[in-house]
Amino acid sequence: IKNIRYKTKIAVIGAGQAGLSAAYHLKKLGLKIGPDFIILDEASAPGGAWQFRWDSLTLSTVNKIHDLPGMSFEETLSTKGAEVQANTAVPHYFKLYEEKFGLQVYRPAKVEKVYMYQDRFHIDTAKTLFSALGIINATGTWENPYIPTYPGAELFQGEQLHTKDFKTAEYFRGKHVIVVGAGISAIQLLDQISKVTTTTWVTRRPPLFREGPFDDMAGHNAVAMVEERVRLGLSPLSVVSVTGLPYSTEIQEMEKRGVLQRFPMFQEITEKGIKWADGTEQKGDVILWNTGFKSSLSHLDAVLPKEKQDGIQMAGRLATMVAKEPRIHLVGYGPSASTIGANRAGSAAARELLKMLSAADLNTN
Ligand code: FAD
Repeated sequence: IKNIRYKTKIAVIGAGQAGLSAAYHLKKLGLKIGPDFIILDEASAPGGAWQFRWDSLTLSTVNKIHDLPGMSFEETLSTKGAEVQANTAVPHYFKLYEEKFGLQVYRPAKVEKVYMYQDRFHIDTAKTLFSALGIINATGTWENPYIPTYPGAELFQGEQLHTKDFKTAEYFRGKHVIVVGAGISAIQLLDQISKVTTTTWVTRRPPLFREGPFDDMAGHNAVAMVEERVRLGLSPLSVVSVTGLPYSTEIQEMEKRGVLQRFPMFQEITEKGIKWADGTEQKGDVILWNTGFKSSLSHLDAVLPKEKQDGIQMAGRLATMVAKEPRIHLVGYGPSASTIGANRAGSAAARELLKMLSAADLNTN
């Protein structure tokens, strides 16, 4: 039994782009931080997952970081230019944002488990047991890296790492690195690592390069497709992965250096490396899986109704509402898993959840 208990009306779990946007809108709708809503975050400092990303991820190598509602990112940059590190600039922006709008975040407060008791959600963290009538979950994907299973994975004597583990290319010097994946992270890390050591690049499907600037229509269609999936209760696909890779000068340079030679997916992992279906083998010291992330939702297992294959049926204006448990909203999930999507989802979730929780509930609890 926890000594500290705290009762509120709405709990926002996660203080990245999605959680901060939701909190901003709750406040704008007249709710007070503390008695009306709280924000909990596992990390000890502001910045969402951005604070944990590698140093070489700069404002020129990210797609685009959209402003949170009510404050410009650009204006918070102490140094301008494309080479500004995302892992310091975004956390600085979020810190100023929390201060400007008085969004005090309880941190570090990792939500271990949420369960229902006497018609309230009980939100268990190491020190405090919170309880609330509704939840806006904004826990992102960073804590849930995805690595597909391949036979022999347990035999491999080298290192198996994920995008999440990448710090610097220098770490790989002198090692042969098998880079898996066809997304933006795979290409960017392949570029950097191939400048200091030898690599083999393996992807399930050939990567999709697009000429010219990003097409808004393609982005819109990608989001619509993911939204349709989650409304049907299917698991979402990554929005960011559907937009294609820009045929950038970096990629053209990689082609010239011969590092963009792509091999199809292997069939198994061996003690020393990988093996394709035709028996060909490739030795390697590291397998670097750039195979994406899935939503971090395990703390909600007891309260989140699931469909087949871990799908969650979503409803509401921007599909942020859990259809079978409308007191829970998921923001930064499925169609809103981008900085712009997270902004919009935060607004929709705040409004809809407030409407859902009846006036009587809100006044008496
Ligand atoms: P996060 O930023 O991950 O925030 C989640 C928060 O929840 C964290 O602060 C975490 O500490 C907290 N949390 C997690 N679990 C718990 C728990 N159990 N209890 C309490 N707190 C918890 N999108 C774009 O739009 N543009 C880009 O340029 C772009 N670049 C990207 C580059 C990389 C390398 C990656 C991996 C993603 C990128 N994305 C980009 C996707 C983008 O990061 C997200 O869409 C957006 O920033 C996610 O915001 P979020 O609030 O959903 O999650």
